[in-house]
Amino acid sequence: MSVREQYLETLGVDVWKARTDSRPPLAEPGVAMAAAVASAPAALVAPPAVAAIAADEVAWEALRAQVSTCTRCELSQTRTQTVFGVGNRRADLMVIGEAPGADEDRQGEPFVGRAGQLLNSMLRAIGYARPTLYIANVLKCRPPGNREPKPGEVACCLPYLQQQLDMIQPRLLVALGRVAAQNLLATDVPLARLRGQVHRFGARATPLIVTYHPAYLLRSPTEKRKSWVDLKFIRAELARARAGA
Ligand code: SF4
Repeated sequence: MSVREQYLETLGVDVWKARTDSRPPLAEPGVAMAAAVASAPAALVAPPAVAAIAADEVAWEALRAQVSTCTRCELSQTRTQTVFGVGNRRADLMVIGEAPGADEDRQGEPFVGRAGQLLNSMLRAIGYARPTLYIANVLKCRPPGNREPKPGEVACCLPYLQQQLDMIQPRLLVALGRVAAQNLLATDVPLARLRGQVHRFGARATPLIVTYHPAYLLRSPTEKRKSWVDLKFIRAELARARAGA
């Protein structure tokens, strides 16, 4: 039985055929792409393309360096390391969580551990392998004891996420959980009322869909059926966005 089928069986929903992502992945941190460009025959690489890729790489590394030494808020004093984000820098789909947890703080990558494994299964169920999308959090540093982010911390950190979004220019954002959704949308509307509709985020008015955080689904497995409804909505909206491009 495939991983997708196992997930669907867990959810207790009908199996359907998955689609595949049509955009080629550009894996974080982009070293592979830079190496590929560097080793390609000169006649095959147009100089403007090389320059654009090089500029893109410089911008990403500058932002990463800025985040890794950031002391804009008090979370810099308690983190093990910043958790910048990971994935395809040309992704159609960008997934945004709340903040790093203990595992993420230790490993420096968002959505690892059991919640990360469930997120991977959820995404695979609608045809998206983890490397094909970009994953980040509202906050780059772990709040002590996994407490909720303070408004001042979000205000300090959100510009980093906005810069990532500006560089990736995804077609669709998915906010995982109430805290991420409410902070991104600057609202206190409950998650249940934020699900099932397309919101807009940022200067580009990027479409944004809200669904459950996988850590919540691990605690509340009876909600998995609702998460499946959300996943199908995400799949349909992404297909619609691609068709309109
Ligand atoms: S949470 Fe964000 S703003 Fe605060 S120290 Fe970490 S990177 Fe800087």
